[in-house]
Amino acid sequence: MKQGLLIILSGPSGVGKGAVRRALMENKDLDIVYSISMTTRAPRRLEQNGVDYFFVDEETFQKNVEEGNFLEYVSFVGHSYGTPKQYVDSLRNEGKNVLLEIEVQGATQVLKKMKELGDKNVVSIFLLPPSWPDLEKRIRKRRTETEDVIKKRMDKARSEIKEMFNYDYQVLNDIVPRAATEIKSIIESEIDKRKDVSAC
Ligand code: 5GP
Repeated sequence: MKQGLLIILSGPSGVGKGAVRRALMENKDLDIVYSISMTTRAPRRLEQNGVDYFFVDEETFQKNVEEGNFLEYVSFVGHSYGTPKQYVDSLRNEGKNVLLEIEVQGATQVLKKMKELGDKNVVSIFLLPPSWPDLEKRIRKRRTETEDVIKKRMDKARSEIKEMFNYDYQVLNDIVPRAATEIKSIIESEIDKRKDVSAC
């Protein structure tokens, strides 16, 4: 069976990756599975364990690091986040297309790893905010972060944006449904391209 596509959706924190990913996943014609990350951060209102994240303590997270269970992992503004490797690999081996919604440092690790492995079934998408004030407004709207964390997230976003041309596609998140539709077309055309190659 043909290996599934690994879709990396990244971009600065607060750009709306989660909202775009949810809009994308609502579309059932698109045959993709979302990779649920593990994190040590506390759940926000309405977030569910095993749906939005696997919420774990630092000790459990570190055990997974030591056992080599992550495809990538990072420490991000005081918390740890990681992509469970086994889940992604087994789904892709079954031919399923897997979506990672991760921050830029982790995406860089995955892109490097896939390049080293010669894995060409990868598509990377960088989501951009319409403007800096808009990004700050989105981060503040969550009302969950302190001033210090907001500043850290904004500083990080300024350096991360420089990475955008290392990705296959750059998509502007001006309006969530529009950005999700654009990403859907990108994924569909990447899946079709691979069908064409395997038919030859
Ligand atoms: P939040 O705390 O706002 O849910 O997530 C913070 C940042 O971590 C977001 O940019 C989110 O996309 C990213 N993120 C979520 N899961 C992972 C992961 O497994 N690995 C990495 N590198 N980033 C993640």
